[in-house]
Amino acid sequence: MNMTTLAPELSLVRNDIDRIFDLQKSNQFNTGSSTASERIAKLKKLKVAINDSFNQEIKEAVFKDLRKHETEVQLSEILPVVGAINFAISNLRQWMRDKPVKTPISLFGFSHKIKQEAKGVVLIIAPWNFPVNLSLMPLVSAIAAGNAIVVKPSENTPNSSKVIKKIISTIYQENEVAVIEGGVEETTLLLNKPFNHIFFTGSPAIGKIVMKAASNYLASVSLELGGKNPTVIDSTADVKKAAARIAWSKSVNNGQICIAPDYVFVHADKKDEFVQAYKSQLKNMFGNDVSQSDSYGRIVNKKHFNRLNSVLTDALEQGADLTLGGERDEYQNFFAPTILSNVPHGAKIWEEEIFGPILPLKTFEDLNEVIEYINKDEKPLACYLYSTSNKNIKAFSNKTRSGALAINYSATHYTNPNLPFGGSNNSGIGKANGYFGFKAFSNAKAIQRHWFFFDSLKLIYPPYNDSKSKLASLLTKWFA
Ligand code: NAD
Repeated sequence: MNMTTLAPELSLVRNDIDRIFDLQKSNQFNTGSSTASERIAKLKKLKVAINDSFNQEIKEAVFKDLRKHETEVQLSEILPVVGAINFAISNLRQWMRDKPVKTPISLFGFSHKIKQEAKGVVLIIAPWNFPVNLSLMPLVSAIAAGNAIVVKPSENTPNSSKVIKKIISTIYQENEVAVIEGGVEETTLLLNKPFNHIFFTGSPAIGKIVMKAASNYLASVSLELGGKNPTVIDSTADVKKAAARIAWSKSVNNGQICIAPDYVFVHADKKDEFVQAYKSQLKNMFGNDVSQSDSYGRIVNKKHFNRLNSVLTDALEQGADLTLGGERDEYQNFFAPTILSNVPHGAKIWEEEIFGPILPLKTFEDLNEVIEYINKDEKPLACYLYSTSNKNIKAFSNKTRSGALAINYSATHYTNPNLPFGGSNNSGIGKANGYFGFKAFSNAKAIQRHWFFFDSLKLIYPPYNDSKSKLASLLTKWFA
């Protein structure tokens, strides 16, 4: 973008960004040196806001953006953030405490410790699929770590973005936390500022743009990305339970979840049982006509509806079988839960993350074929294996690589704050949640102190001579 010829509205945004960035830069040592009690007080304000004062407004906003049932909003947008706040409040004193480390004997006279120092002024860029959750979960970690923070929610969920801005401007000063709304142009302006850390959640393609921008001023990055999450049901699995769990995790938020099962490899003997159980679970959750269920959400916008429509049409044109669903209504962005079988190699659906309720099925006889197939692709954010065979679980775990591996459930591992959350390479860089989120927004600073009484290092100061050469050899032999 040519920064000298900005449209008038963008010029205003740029002025706002410059002003907020300067305010936060001047305030960063206040937030950075805040005590655990002060940070906890900030987190409590956020908890009260989302649980009480703005709870209804959040539900209405997310309903307008994604037609999500208010119970689902409570479960998937509010509860995880409240959980993250409670977890941070319980653990923050321990996370912030300086950690003494051992000092080698060769450094006699020194002591050493690690201090978790705030990174400074940080930027959080959020996606639209869990617009509140994915803006506020990283915010909890960034506040816990003592940073000044700018949050950029997604332009694709404008109602949620507005309510996030309203909450934050009500409970925080701009010099501690501020929201800049907007899309590509506004984010590009933000990316021109020398933030100390950028926490980005979104697609791998945009993650690369963010990482490139960060390299201009060597900001550290957390990239929480997506990809295809392979799901495997072997011959030893409880297929009915597997199908029910997969149907649930592929339908919540209309399949627009970064950790939703992307495609399923089912053992050839179990395919029919799987399809029947999947159908029956859908009926339990959404009744006979899913389009009439108020528990079933919608695709976020026309662009994403058209994207899904195009991968489905392409697969069918290339000879795939429509095993279930396929109904859609472009006027409502409604897309029914859909299963495809026998999708030929080369169909578009195998190339990109589906991010919607279409589930391609593949059958297999030998788990090694599945492992080989998965390893040809980029490392997934999550792999799911449904199995009761320890041998298969061990083989799968040792021979595949991914951000997470979950056995016998899908899309729930992120709810344990004791686990790191994030991908590996194409599915992400860095980890989020709990202590891992706190660490992402902190610099582990090495602190060394000398106590003056005996300076052992003087023994190796120049000028060098034979005895110092001998000492150097001894040190290398015994103390290195
Ligand atoms: P996206 O990458 O299109 O957008 C994410 C953010 O980047 C938005 O705030 C957007 O405004 C901004 N953006 C878009 N284009 C930009 C550009 N050219 N320059 C600068 N900023 C830009 O992602 P999305 O469509 O909002 O979300 C879906 C993706 O996010 C999926 O790939 C999904 O797997 C991933 N995701 C990952 C996680 C995770 O925790 N790993 C969670 C949710 C979603």
